Amino acid sequence: MKLKKLRDKLLDLVFPPLCASCDEPTGNHDALCDECLEKYAKEQKIKCRTCHMPASDCSCSIGNGVHGLICSTFYTHYEAGGDRVTEKLIFSLKRERDDKLCDFFAREASAKVMRHLHMMKLDVNRCVITYPPRSESGIRKYGFDHARLVAAGISHYTGIPLAVTLDRAGGDEQKKLTGSERLRNVQTSLRIYDKADVRGLTVFLFDDIVTTGATVGTASSLLKEAGAFSVIPVSIARTENRGR
Ligand SMILES: [Zn+2]
Ligand SMILES: [Zn+2]
Repeated sequence: MKLKKLRDKLLDLVFPPLCASCDEPTGNHDALCDECLEKYAKEQKIKCRTCHMPASDCSCSIGNGVHGLICSTFYTHYEAGGDRVTEKLIFSLKRERDDKLCDFFAREASAKVMRHLHMMKLDVNRCVITYPPRSESGIRKYGFDHARLVAAGISHYTGIPLAVTLDRAGGDEQKKLTGSERLRNVQTSLRIYDKADVRGLTVFLFDDIVTTGATVGTASSLLKEAGAFSVIPVSIARTENRGR
């Protein structure tokens, strides 16, 4: 243990840990420097323009049958402008494998999931945590599936078993597609993994960001068809309702 600490200290001297948001040395062992962490915390308090609640309590319609989303913050908020920590973090989460950042988001989401478990008096052994896998083109391009890494972290912190329940054949990254293209893309590529057994289970479904709800909505329907008792979507951020 002492040796490991010494090694970490030496590594920090040569390669100081950099903040995932601003790229400055963090001065700590977390993914973010104190300043960005503070900004991130403030961004969690941003209120929805429709219902005037923070993202964690906003239940404005998302569409595609997505309800009861457990979420930390809004992704895009017109009044707040760009240059937001959340946006930068999600950008890096998808592009560069950063285990500290995955761990940061896993802890953030886990706190909210634990609160839900407690409130609903759910037994972790009757729950699983799962994720819609990244598209094949995304995995080819970046070499990892960030949703899986964060979901595994949530499993670690909450004790909810991680389960692979969904499979993706082909499909493109959703980002560049329009609303209807997103829905078609996900409906044709996402399916239940043939070895998955979710019968009677409460399924926590992690996806980094919920925009139109196409991915989470389609995945929820598939899981329910496969016998899930209920599906609870979990995300880092949601885009604000734009009066769709
Ligand atoms: Zn920073
Ligand atoms: Zn709202």
